Amino acid sequence: MSRSSAVRLSHFLPSLLLLLAGLAVAYVRELNVFFTSLFNVLPTLVLLLGGAYCAVYRRQRELFLMVTVYIAYFLLDTQTDYYRDFGGVREDAAVVFHLCCLLLPVLYGTFAAWQERTHLFQDLVARFAVLLAVGSVALALEQSYPQAVQAWLAEIRWPALHGAWMSLIQLAYPLFLAAFVLLAYQYWRHPRPLHAAQLVGLLGLFWMLPKTFILPFTLNIMCSQVMLMIAAAVAHEAYQMAFRDELTGLPGRRALNERLQRLGRNYVLAMSDVDHFKKFNDTHGHDVGDQVLRLVASKLSKIGGGGRAYRYGGEEFALVFAARSLEECLPHLEEIREAIASYNIQLRNQDSRPLDDQQGRQRRSGASACSVAVTVSIGVAERLEQRTPEEVLKSADQALYSAKGAGRNCVMAFGQSRRGAVRMEGATD
Ligand code: GH3
Ligand code: MG
Ligand code: MG
Repeated sequence: MSRSSAVRLSHFLPSLLLLLAGLAVAYVRELNVFFTSLFNVLPTLVLLLGGAYCAVYRRQRELFLMVTVYIAYFLLDTQTDYYRDFGGVREDAAVVFHLCCLLLPVLYGTFAAWQERTHLFQDLVARFAVLLAVGSVALALEQSYPQAVQAWLAEIRWPALHGAWMSLIQLAYPLFLAAFVLLAYQYWRHPRPLHAAQLVGLLGLFWMLPKTFILPFTLNIMCSQVMLMIAAAVAHEAYQMAFRDELTGLPGRRALNERLQRLGRNYVLAMSDVDHFKKFNDTHGHDVGDQVLRLVASKLSKIGGGGRAYRYGGEEFALVFAARSLEECLPHLEEIREAIASYNIQLRNQDSRPLDDQQGRQRRSGASACSVAVTVSIGVAERLEQRTPEEVLKSADQALYSAKGAGRNCVMAFGQSRRGAVRMEGATD
């Protein structure tokens, strides 16, 4: 699978929805007592629930991200509460706010990009040490030299780059930009829901800071949303681990079992199996076999007629057609079988890689280009009276067995005679 094809909108969708909801709620002017009370407790509630959830799944990176966001919320909330109650800012408001603008992108970026180590306890101690060291140094400086720290933070270092729109200290912008580039690169290298959520969360924090004293509940709402994004990403990844097949990206056996329990009265199930795959593995190696499985899976995932493909196990795939009859499904199965058989797979085998560009061009244009083809056999069964999905699947498996017996590279329906098999002309074997 190429990297760009692994980048998915679905990785970003939950976080983007949470971000948009946060933006929308932050702009609501008049909030009733219920929502005011809710937003006051929401960040703490999300931290406790999300933190417990991350701890159960042993996701320390996410836990520390949440704690970082919560600490920023706690420090700034003390300031905004005072501002709301007394109509003016506290004496230390500027230095606390500027420190948050400086340290939030630094700590958030660090914890987000810091991959988990195998040894959980060491990892926990190391993260805690970083948080403690940065926090205590910042606190000590702020307490001992408030004026000097304030002046250092607020200094405009690059006058030529300073815009009137910049409402944060100048230093915050390159730090947010660096964190953004780092997290974007991380997502590009390893596209997964958590990395997408971290990226969107950073944008939420960047949007939030300048509005902290302007929009009443921005701080509570956006900090809660960012922590929720991280918790949602953990849930998303846990779901993927349980229900997705890692090699092919198709839903796996568990997802199939769940789907089978929710089928209506009429449905069709098909089992497909790669032909002579053991021989293929022996000839080309297991890695090439894996590439081929991914390709077969990607073809099967495009099945028409409302069908859905699942990796059943090994080189076997199940296809589910809900609310369809056998006649409706057969042309689509035949079409997909044909598409797989006629596809020439260009091998991306390391061993067969050209040594230089010229050799590569020669190989691509000449007959020496390393391409292979595989075929699949498909058995299909329709639900008849009083039959459970497991029984229908068993019938499809029997039909698959018949398809293998009929020479492979064909589609065979349960109860169909050999002569009547839907068979490709000139099929091998
Ligand atoms: P037939 O046409 O009768 O299906 O022959 P076959 O060789 O495909 O059947 P068999 O079930 O004996 O072999 C299945 C092979 O699939 C065995 C195993 O090496 C291979 N296989 C199963 N899972 C994977 C996988 O995840 N990756 C790779 N590369 N090979 C796999
Ligand atoms: Mg098999
Ligand atoms: Mg096979």
